[in-house]
Amino acid sequence: MVIGGLQKLSLIDYPAKVAAVVFTQGCLFRCPYCHNPELVPLKQDSYISEDDVLRFLNGQRNFIDGVCITGGEPTLHHDLPDFIKKIKSMNLLVKLDTNGINPNMVEKMIAADLLDYIAMDVKHRWEKYDCVAHTGNETALENCKKTFYLIQSSGVDHEFRTTVFPAEHAEEDFFTIAGYLLPGEKYYIQDIRYGKNLNKHLDKTKELNVSKIAATLRSKYPRVQVDVR
Ligand code: SF4
Repeated sequence: MVIGGLQKLSLIDYPAKVAAVVFTQGCLFRCPYCHNPELVPLKQDSYISEDDVLRFLNGQRNFIDGVCITGGEPTLHHDLPDFIKKIKSMNLLVKLDTNGINPNMVEKMIAADLLDYIAMDVKHRWEKYDCVAHTGNETALENCKKTFYLIQSSGVDHEFRTTVFPAEHAEEDFFTIAGYLLPGEKYYIQDIRYGKNLNKHLDKTKELNVSKIAATLRSKYPRVQVDVR
């Protein structure tokens, strides 16, 4: 594991849980609005060693409920399942944040009962996915779709979420994405955070009303749990 950061305590990254947050280094997507741009490059040097993270978590295990593993993209690290096994041996819950790029690993981790909660970013409706993800790679989209359907059928508590990116999204795109969800599933739409972004020259002239989109989604898809973050 190449670890890019550790947040010792969070009340917001794992729903209804007190958690530590481990940030992995490296991502193959290039979402222009990414607000952790320092975690995007694939590097070999860790900000903090895996052993030090595990030692810290072990010391905290009576004070936190679990660990949120986010990125970057955690599933790029072949040893992620082993890392999670070590965390679970401390009786801590594990939430995985993923962009969906590695369905094989997600499938194995679900089968091995390593994940207690999964949050997947759905960057755009499938037809326009690369307008946000910027991978230039058809396989990446196919992988994201596979992961999406795997999560839906996993039985693991989960959520899908989309960051609203007015430069690329239109209101109707969220109706399309929400249409992918099954009754009872959670869908969060997140307002874009301008400031520290991967693309330093984002077009900030366009706007979308996130609350209005959420209200329309709720009336159109009353069986999906829509919320704003
Ligand atoms: S926002 Fe996009 S570029 Fe940034 S870590 Fe997530 S998937 Fe990667």
